[in-house]
Amino acid sequence: MKPRTSNWIVRTILTTGISIALATAAASHGAAQAQASGAPFGPDNPFFAESALPFHAPPFDRIKDSDYQPAIDAGMAQQLEQVQKIADNPEPPTFENTIVAFERSSRLLDRVGAAFNCVTHANTDDELQKVQEYEAPRFAAHQDAIQLNPKLFARIKAIYDTRNSLGLDAESLRLVEYDYQQFVKAGANLSEEDKTRLKKLNEEQSTLSATFMNKLQAAAKAGSFSTTNKAALAGLSEEEIAAAAVPAGQSQPQGFVIPLLNTTQQPDFAVLSNRATRQAIYENSWNRTERGDANDTRATIASLAQLRAQKAALMGYPNFAAWNLTDQMAKTPEAAINFIDALVPAATARAKREGDDIQAVIDSQHAGFTLEPWDWEFYAEQVRKARYDLDESQIKPYFELNNVLENGVFYAAHELYGLTFKERHDLPVYQSDVRVFEVFDADGSPMALWYCDYFKRDNKNGGAWMDQFVSESKLLGQKPVVFNVANFAKPAPGQPALLSFDDVTTMFHEFGHALHGMLADTQYPSLSGTQTPRDFVEFPSQFNEHWASYPAVFDHYAKHSKTGEPMPAELKAKIEKSKTFNQGYDMTEILAAARLDLCWHTLPASAPLQDPDAFEKDALEKTHLALHAVPPRYRSSYFLHIWEEGYEAGYYAYSWTEMLDDAAFQWFLDHGGMTRANGDRFRRMVLSRGNTEDLEKMYETWLGSKPSIEPMLKSRGLTPDGAR
Ligand SMILES: [Zn+2]
Repeated sequence: MKPRTSNWIVRTILTTGISIALATAAASHGAAQAQASGAPFGPDNPFFAESALPFHAPPFDRIKDSDYQPAIDAGMAQQLEQVQKIADNPEPPTFENTIVAFERSSRLLDRVGAAFNCVTHANTDDELQKVQEYEAPRFAAHQDAIQLNPKLFARIKAIYDTRNSLGLDAESLRLVEYDYQQFVKAGANLSEEDKTRLKKLNEEQSTLSATFMNKLQAAAKAGSFSTTNKAALAGLSEEEIAAAAVPAGQSQPQGFVIPLLNTTQQPDFAVLSNRATRQAIYENSWNRTERGDANDTRATIASLAQLRAQKAALMGYPNFAAWNLTDQMAKTPEAAINFIDALVPAATARAKREGDDIQAVIDSQHAGFTLEPWDWEFYAEQVRKARYDLDESQIKPYFELNNVLENGVFYAAHELYGLTFKERHDLPVYQSDVRVFEVFDADGSPMALWYCDYFKRDNKNGGAWMDQFVSESKLLGQKPVVFNVANFAKPAPGQPALLSFDDVTTMFHEFGHALHGMLADTQYPSLSGTQTPRDFVEFPSQFNEHWASYPAVFDHYAKHSKTGEPMPAELKAKIEKSKTFNQGYDMTEILAAARLDLCWHTLPASAPLQDPDAFEKDALEKTHLALHAVPPRYRSSYFLHIWEEGYEAGYYAYSWTEMLDDAAFQWFLDHGGMTRANGDRFRRMVLSRGNTEDLEKMYETWLGSKPSIEPMLKSRGLTPDGAR
């Protein structure tokens, strides 16, 4: 079992002009010249008016690829016009005519941006990629034009300076402080000359991020493992081999293809018995973006790191992380670094012991080699079997996707928050695998729509994430429309989708983000739901994972897909016991990635352009995370989170929020477990509150104390006396 190590991404959408939409990605250098479509924007465009569908759901039955670019261009123009009106208002600045008006300024851009972000990440194609590359720098310039508008900032500053005498309610006061902080962070206090430099840096950064993602997507595709030799796939089930078979009539040669996921380790390593196959797939993975070809990202990331350091220097900060963490819960890079470093000794000591156990198995089989990264999962599986007699193939029949969803994920949300769900087949979707559910509150009132898009496709980014088509806001009269995307193996036709427990955990995780969005009960879209700092936003999702193995929930969904029999107690006990298994590896690979991120983003502006391979090696060595058999979860050159996904100087947040969620779950256990009273209290004090108050205060008021790393180490068996 490897809960907590899926690729968890939550994306923020552009609910206002100043949140970060990341309209990014796409084609190689030349294609950046993609031209403006020149297509007119009028009532025929499906984004022209607010969607007439329930909950203002996107009308995907009417949306064509060619509709996005004119709508995005018009959305930016409309917002600029609105913002200029606010800035030029002859009336003195008030909360209503400035702050609230600004909240209302991006309706069209939100509509199209949310749908565009969804399809470019979950269902992309060449045309969308071209639009993405074309719009990325324009969107960055658009954000700058707003955030660096001196007249708008002067009005916001005037309100900020008098905020305590305006009689504002707490949420409105928070919004004033939030807007001011975001503008200052974006450079609103800079001189005109420095603002011009900043705009240029932002545009360059945006283009480089887009180039990075485009190269990475192409590299991942090119890095698929292909073979015509079925024996090379020994260890995969017949169903898995059938799913890997290239369908007849494809342009590819007949045979089998194993696509790359975006992590260093690949899930099939646990079962592939052919060592040469594992090594070949591993090398495809590790070197995917370092082949010296058009998809090599090393020069791109070195430039990105340097640009970001220069940007921080312009803002008056010693490095990018120092600037970027000002609005986070951790506040400084030192706090993040100290937190990560405190976990390193326990994690690496455990990983080394796990490596010794694996080497012992290899030696006992007289295999005659030293443990390599591509061996870890395969032999760990044997250690696991020897120690727990636990075999993934024994478990999977109890985790059929739909059953996990209805009787696990939905059930827990019902028991905790009173929610119910009903599938709708009348709403259009962007791809035929996507499903839509209407969500009802405890009193039966319609509350939200929730979409899921669970199966892997080669035009979908790796990992799993949540995002929104419509975010909750009482001001705008909007109820949330939220979606979850994952990359579970699609079963061969007619077969049930059987999940690993890791996949099950991912479903609960992403649904935790969805709950954060759907239970939002706030006035302003900028502060709603998941619009929280990175080092808070993973807390509700990771917290929701705990219910996957909570006995009353687990027993409700873990039933055999053919017989309906509950999982035998003995097997259940083994899953429970094996939870702390391999946690040294799991935590070390994540700490290594987090530390790499912080090393890249604490470079001063004066540092020369780095050689990524040398930099990476040095960074891992000096932070005591250079374990030969435990590579970082993402190598620098394919670390999507930090070069494109908005997690730069923020990957530590996954571990930071684990500290928060372990302490939170312990609170539930100490107060009677899964009850409506506990769920409603959590909903009222945390889940519904978004970013409407200081998050440290919100959390500690709910918990009744400060969080520590102890429950986190304990729950992973990483304390000195922890179970192996
Ligand atoms: Zn997440």
